[in-house]
Amino acid sequence: MGREAKRTFAPILVGLALLTGCSKEVTEHSAEIFAMNTLVSMTIWGHDSNQVIVESEHFIYAMEDQFSTTIPESDVYLLNHNQGEWMTVSPEIMEMLDFSRIMSEETQGSFNPLMYPLVTTWGFTTGQQQVPSSAAIAEAMVATDLSLLELDMDNNQVRLSQNAQVDLGGIAKGYTGDALAGYLHEKGVKSALISLGGNIYTLGYKADGSLWNIGIQNPYGAGSVGSVAVYNQAVITSGGYQRYFIFGDETYWHILDPATGYPAKSGLASVTIITDSGMYGDCLSTALFVMGLDKAIDYWQEHQDFEAVFIVDDGDVYVTGGIADSFTLSKGYQSGQLWEISS
Ligand code: AMP
Ligand code: MG
Repeated sequence: MGREAKRTFAPILVGLALLTGCSKEVTEHSAEIFAMNTLVSMTIWGHDSNQVIVESEHFIYAMEDQFSTTIPESDVYLLNHNQGEWMTVSPEIMEMLDFSRIMSEETQGSFNPLMYPLVTTWGFTTGQQQVPSSAAIAEAMVATDLSLLELDMDNNQVRLSQNAQVDLGGIAKGYTGDALAGYLHEKGVKSALISLGGNIYTLGYKADGSLWNIGIQNPYGAGSVGSVAVYNQAVITSGGYQRYFIFGDETYWHILDPATGYPAKSGLASVTIITDSGMYGDCLSTALFVMGLDKAIDYWQEHQDFEAVFIVDDGDVYVTGGIADSFTLSKGYQSGQLWEISS
């Protein structure tokens, strides 16, 4: 679908409402758009201009225009078709590639920004999903070697060799959420909730001064497993249920294990990261999903600069010590038990 065709969906809702509190009224502006292959919704409270919401929509489209792998004019698309030559990219892409490279090392390759050839082989970009031959997977895996990505940080230049192609799908929503929250803050917005396909950003407190209760999707059905009370933080989830196809008796999802080239079947149904930095949280949610619970716990215990909720295949829920008190299991969730991970 071309970009213009897709854009005709937006905005599908721009609303203004008044919340009547005990003593004063708080304005509320919201919008929902389709961007970055997902539903994006945002609401701001206590700010009198709907213009900010309209500008936020443009902000997100401008990000998508840079980061998309499929929009032919995007920086990432041009980079992926640049025939092994150096190319100047935006500072935003440079920052994400640099951070991805660090996270790839830090997670022993579980996060990899060069997954595009593999993702394409599985058909996740075209919507024509298929189980590829092992030869096709092996060929695509060769192109995911991080040595094929060269960054010249001083000149914002990037070079990809030998069929390597960038896919920022595991980090770009986190980056965009941070950037949008920063932009809203600059505009004087004190209270906002942004959702990029279920990746949540909370700016400040709720309009009434209380914490946000952010629900964590039940990977097995409707509703939430529980909720976490936060403010000024990103709550980022990766889960096999978010994009998948079924072939035979198997479910194949979009988060791939760079070590095997196949969908990561690590025993986890979803990973939610709670952190100040959405970019960090986005990389981590993908990487820890690939690692599986045991390695993810080791990772948390070593780093301790984020919090997490892990939902495992049998339905049990594990929360890290720092948020154990702010996490509440949904009353209706009966698929498993709640466990606290201590440091
Ligand atoms: P997320 O939803 O943040 O976990 O990101 C998943 C998306 O990131 C996929 O749709 C792919 O575009 C890409 N991706 C898949 N596997 C990986 C991986 N191991 N490392 C980095 N990006 C990945
Ligand atoms: Mg991610």
